[in-house]
Amino acid sequence: MNQLAIHNPATGALITQVPADNAASVAAKAAQARAAQPGWLATPLAERKACITRFRAAVVAQLELLAATMTRETGKPIKMSRNELNGLLGRIDFFLKEVDAQLVLETVFSEGGMTEQIQHTPLGVVANISAWNYPWFVGGNVFIPALLTGNAVLYKPSEYATLTGLAMARLLHEAGVPQDVFIALVGDGEVGAALQAQKIDGLFFTGSYGTGVKIAQALGPRMVKLQLELGGKDPSYVCEDAYPKVAAESLADGAMYNTGQSCCSVERIYVHEKIHDAFVAAFMDTVHGFKVGDPMSEDTYIGAITRAPQLDVLDAQVADALAKGATLLTGGKRLPGPGNWYAPTVFTNVSHSMELMREESFGPIVGIQKVSGDAQAVQLMNDTRYGLTAGVFTPDEARARTLLAQVSAGSVYWNCCDRVSPRLPWSGHGDSGVGLTLSTYGIQTFTRPKAWHLRQA
Ligand code: NAD
Repeated sequence: MNQLAIHNPATGALITQVPADNAASVAAKAAQARAAQPGWLATPLAERKACITRFRAAVVAQLELLAATMTRETGKPIKMSRNELNGLLGRIDFFLKEVDAQLVLETVFSEGGMTEQIQHTPLGVVANISAWNYPWFVGGNVFIPALLTGNAVLYKPSEYATLTGLAMARLLHEAGVPQDVFIALVGDGEVGAALQAQKIDGLFFTGSYGTGVKIAQALGPRMVKLQLELGGKDPSYVCEDAYPKVAAESLADGAMYNTGQSCCSVERIYVHEKIHDAFVAAFMDTVHGFKVGDPMSEDTYIGAITRAPQLDVLDAQVADALAKGATLLTGGKRLPGPGNWYAPTVFTNVSHSMELMREESFGPIVGIQKVSGDAQAVQLMNDTRYGLTAGVFTPDEARARTLLAQVSAGSVYWNCCDRVSPRLPWSGHGDSGVGLTLSTYGIQTFTRPKAWHLRQA
């Protein structure tokens, strides 16, 4: 069997090697999941819920170990690893609370001997190909509601979050989810491609637009339910009546949290010309306070860049912005290794001719552009192929609602950013993807409505 080498991106050191899957083992695992799914569906919902409740308790009990594992293999600052695991608990609680109502047999008509019902049946065997940047969030958004609704899950963690993915499998199995009902697959894109080639009833993908397109092309003719949660280039607009310091602190965090490696990182900031300079000064104060360093340290805010190739993307965006006349206020370069490090980077005097304002950066880098007013801000916010989130900072709710109603994005924020709620659907417009997770819709999405037409004899 091939081995997958797992490195610490903060040091470059080899952490361990784990046996990787191949086409034959993926096919065997898919067959095991297929055989196991009916038994899982026949397991009473109360017992499926009890398994997830025990899984939740195990996450709480082992939180420090799980956080350290994630930090070591992704470079995520340890406090943020804990935040993610604690955030997962709220999502689990939401799914546990809501799942019963989503699975109730609905009678929608009954008259003259004719009855019509909607039954919510699971999809069957679902594949989850996942990203590394928030492995517990993006994995849990899929496998928790999928398992609760009676599906078997073939879960392929990112090759950059494999140990975390294997920990999820261990905890689920210890909590009572049968070995063949949740199966982890280890490997890179080749293993993902082998998984998508299996007989599956749904594929839930979180990752880049480029990989999403490949998966969509492969699955198109096969009529498999497909969800794609892809990248973003998320904008925020600071109006002239906003409090510059409050907006700057929130947006600097939104841009740089998780070392800028969030799908909903703030990647474009538009500021009304009347407060542009005050905003930029406050923004720089905040960024200068961010400590770059060992991800295991309690006071680290900026950790390592998880994937080494991303450093080239950041370098190229910086070079392009400088060549086109942007002003570099800080950073703009790699930091010395070992490991993958990039300095927090802020540009002003940017424009949409620059890659920095058009393509996902996925690092601690952001452009701030001066705008003349609301019309220009809306036009620029919509000048993108993506549409994950967008925000507006102003004390005036009516103005924010008017502006955000005109912006094409799955989630919109008034006086906040980089925020996800289990109660609200998480989805993208345009090249940010199709389908959704979270909210009650994010439970229903793992079921199909079966229509029953019943006439009394
Ligand atoms: P990626 O596309 O490189 O990899 C994602 C997954 O796809 C990995 O598990 C990888 O092994 C697998 N894969 C790669 N090639 C494949 C192929 N040909 N067939 C099948 N599977 C294949 O993305 P990434 O670097 O892991 O994640 C970063 C991206 O994810 C960013 O663009 C980010 O914005 C996006 N993301 C989106 C959301 C969201 O909710 N919209 C959340 C987190 C991350």
